[in-house]
Amino acid sequence: MQAMKNALLTIVAAGLALLAPTAAFADDHGGDHGAEKPKWSIAIHGGAGTILPENITPEQRVAYEAALQEALDAGTEVLKNGGSAMDAVKAAIIPMEDNPLFNAGRGAVFTWEGENELDASIMDGRDRSAGAVTGVKTVKNPILLADKVRTNSPHVFLMGEGAEQFAGEQGFEVTPPEWFATQSRRESLERMKARELSALDVDLKFGTVGAVALDQDGNLAAGTSTGGMTGKRWGRIGDAPVIGAGTYADNRSCAVSATGWGEYFIRVGVAQDICSRLRFLRLMDPEVLKALMMRPADSDEIDLPQFSEQAQNAADAVMAEVKKLGGDGGVIVAIPEGDVFYSFNTAGMYRGRANSDGLNEVAIFGGEDEAGASNTPDH
Ligand code: ASP
Repeated sequence: MQAMKNALLTIVAAGLALLAPTAAFADDHGGDHGAEKPKWSIAIHGGAGTILPENITPEQRVAYEAALQEALDAGTEVLKNGGSAMDAVKAAIIPMEDNPLFNAGRGAVFTWEGENELDASIMDGRDRSAGAVTGVKTVKNPILLADKVRTNSPHVFLMGEGAEQFAGEQGFEVTPPEWFATQSRRESLERMKARELSALDVDLKFGTVGAVALDQDGNLAAGTSTGGMTGKRWGRIGDAPVIGAGTYADNRSCAVSATGWGEYFIRVGVAQDICSRLRFLRLMDPEVLKALMMRPADSDEIDLPQFSEQAQNAADAVMAEVKKLGGDGGVIVAIPEGDVFYSFNTAGMYRGRANSDGLNEVAIFGGEDEAGASNTPDH
């Protein structure tokens, strides 16, 4: 019997090591489940990429920080007043869709044919209901249409004209294409065509926007909205509207929104992979494990890592997978314990986070956060 228990312990320990290859096992192996937790939390992103101080002017930096703060405040307001994580995610994403600084809604990048085609997705961690749209051209706030797909249709994912027909039936106004088109994005397409550059060379950064939130009722939500990548062709769809790649939320594990080179995020299944790893970890809660092993709960014999630390490690491990395949970008993650954190393998990521403990910060470059960001750029 003892031999069986030891064998099980070895398997579990090996599983943990696989889930988080860089994990430093914490001294406090009781985990943080008993500690007081923030009642709500939110994180946002406005894209990742080669965002270095020398690549943006001081004025641009001020403008981005103000835009991020506006989005963060909009989400915070909802959560502070007891609103739902779903409402907070939408409230945070809408101002970024409306702001031409970001590659979502107004200010979206151009397709090869010179159009703005918008993608968005949203997911509710309560019941894993989800909605997504792709290739939409006349809806001002695609995140709201994605949510209507979730609540008012029997489907999860609608595309192009069909999605727009559904938008009309749901009472969305038709927004003219000029609303989305900006001169700087048009110039990016022209430079790309003239010099045969890739989307990355031409933009230096991804400008997708996203938000993840935990509300006071303990519910998680995630949403993402984008114009995709400059010069996309043939109806290309990135990760942002793909549930499981760019967006995922499950109250049992986490909420994730991604930005980056979508093809790689789809191949890795980034958002769901992070959540699955955390769900598996949660199943191996130290107390549960100790009970399983029939050891007293205060036993010091099993050395297990804290959950929030493991959550960061799981996100880092999945981002390492993206990097290994040749992709780059980043994620924002919220977990039921209240922690919100980032992981990105680019030089910077437009980002922000706030919680009921008084945390409220926006950041752009790597290394700007005191804690809760893992940044392993490959430049
Ligand atoms: N992930 C988006 C896409 O591939 C691009 C971005 O993050 O800006 O469409």
